[in-house]
Amino acid sequence: MNDDVMDQYIEAGRIASAIRARGADEIRVGASYLAVVEKIEGMVRDAGAGLAFPLNVSINEDAAHDTASCGDERIFSRGDMVKLDLGVHIDGYIADTAMTVDLGDHPLLVEASSRGLAAAISIVRPGVSTGDLGVAINDEIESRGFRPVANLTGHGLDRFMIHTPPNIPNIRVQGGAVLEEGMVFAIEPFASTGTGHVSEKHRTEIYQQLAVRPVRLPSARRILEEIRPRKGLPFSRRWLHEEKLDLALATLVRSQVVRGYPVLSDVPGSLVSQAEHTLIVTSDGCLVTTT
Ligand code: MN
Ligand code: MN
Repeated sequence: MNDDVMDQYIEAGRIASAIRARGADEIRVGASYLAVVEKIEGMVRDAGAGLAFPLNVSINEDAAHDTASCGDERIFSRGDMVKLDLGVHIDGYIADTAMTVDLGDHPLLVEASSRGLAAAISIVRPGVSTGDLGVAINDEIESRGFRPVANLTGHGLDRFMIHTPPNIPNIRVQGGAVLEEGMVFAIEPFASTGTGHVSEKHRTEIYQQLAVRPVRLPSARRILEEIRPRKGLPFSRRWLHEEKLDLALATLVRSQVVRGYPVLSDVPGSLVSQAEHTLIVTSDGCLVTTT
């Protein structure tokens, strides 16, 4: 990795980390999802950076992929376990970071994912396998009496690409990729009081363009025009100005030009916490860009 690229990853991380902390302060009982999400996304733009994906705000059994919808009337309630997952990019170089804001009283659940993350980071260096990271995460979470979410993983990052190999498991798995100097990836343990498996809800607010292909429907063409500056990074329904949005998005999804990311949830009534950092593997360890 050349120094310019490294500098952009570090700058994206510095911005993401500062906004993650300021954003967490906005999440209070009675605050509106929509106001909080728009304020935090605005902080990224004001910092001169781009959003690598719509701000994810997912509560309680919802682990990931929720965000405010247009006209969202939800407010944060006492007891909510709120995951704030923020992606910032500088010229496509991404920092992906998350934390949990507990509006209830479950400090051990919050600690489980953050200690899992710290344990994995502490052993990152060339030659270590992603399987070793999964064991470290798994053990920190299980030792506190919770389940790591098995079917959510950390992931490699590349320019304008939010999910690349390798996957970083949150559980004990066979094998895995061997880490090499210069790799960039996010580690993101999820700890759950539920089953430790997430499934898709019907709600979808976040989408991503998969293919560049001509479409006939005028409203669908207008959406493709509007999301073109995303260069393949995910976008929110809330960001779009198309009047015939539902029909247009459904058409794009059916023709596999766009995919949706439905909200991913453990069983109703469970609580899930998350912690995430982005890091670069160095010759003798790693540099965490989102500290
Ligand atoms: Mn994330
Ligand atoms: Mn991530």
